Amino acid sequence: MIPKKLIIAEDTINDIVEESNRHENVETGGLLFGKIIGECIIILKIIHSSTNAKRTHVYFEMDEDFAINITKQMEKNNLAYLGNWHKHLGYGGPSNGDDKQAELFLIQNSHKRNYLSLIIDFYNNDYNLIATNYSFDEDEFIKKDIQIQQIINIQELNKIFKRKKLNIRNFIDNLSKNLEDHTGKTFIHSQSNKSQSYKLFYEEIYDLQNSESKTKNKIVYSVFIKFPYLNISMTDKISIGVTLDHKLTRIVEEIQFSDIFFNIVELLPKLKNIFDKSQYYIKILLHSDNKKENSDFKNRIKIIKVIFRTLKSIYIQYSFKAKAKNVT
Ligand SMILES: [Zn+2]
Repeated sequence: MIPKKLIIAEDTINDIVEESNRHENVETGGLLFGKIIGECIIILKIIHSSTNAKRTHVYFEMDEDFAINITKQMEKNNLAYLGNWHKHLGYGGPSNGDDKQAELFLIQNSHKRNYLSLIIDFYNNDYNLIATNYSFDEDEFIKKDIQIQQIINIQELNKIFKRKKLNIRNFIDNLSKNLEDHTGKTFIHSQSNKSQSYKLFYEEIYDLQNSESKTKNKIVYSVFIKFPYLNISMTDKISIGVTLDHKLTRIVEEIQFSDIFFNIVELLPKLKNIFDKSQYYIKILLHSDNKKENSDFKNRIKIIKVIFRTLKSIYIQYSFKAKAKNVT
């Protein structure tokens, strides 16, 4: 699918204008990161070029090592490399050279389906934004202007995607890869037949040498991320938490999916934190031990039965009296 719309926040545009003004009378530019959802390309992060970039009044070339390093970092945070932005000094949209560069990029990076070029063209004291998407259809190189939709801030995106459900299988696959890079632990995928929820979890057996319970020294501790469905909407909530022995579960946090999707909330550090605090969570869960809970539960049942019996006897007495009255 060829994207038809570019979504960019006003804050981001201001940032691009400022950076352009810092390099007077020469071209400059930077890298664009974000997401492609359906027909929308969403810019969520921009990175300005380093000092090593070549900047002249008709020409701009990025420092390639810098670009590669930044891209690796961003991909770890689930942000895809979308393309570049660069400044023109009043000569309009992409030049032949710009087209060639995009073509070369797509040929050299065959896993990329699209390349976005965003040009900020300055004339008089004003500027114009031009977005172009480049792609390949079989062997045909396609260049297409795309519409730019400005939004005030990234939060506004929540509204745009509110009703759209998206299949997040790819997102989850990427997430589990990133989790492995980030925590060094391999997460297991599991889908429940009943509830349709999807879970990524990591299990570990802990030896509880200083445990108060003598009967059990080993305990299975697992950390999970649970998605309510595979077809999720931006407003759905996912939960992260821990489980002991497949029984006791504690939800550590519930996060709106859009906050993770647009990297407003970073999931990886949160999960790392759960691992770091594993001993603490084990303690909490052991103290809400089922033995104590069970005895509480039994007590409650007893009390309810007593109340019920009392009520019943009151009712019987009352109806006897009522009947007696009716007779007379
Ligand atoms: Zn150019």
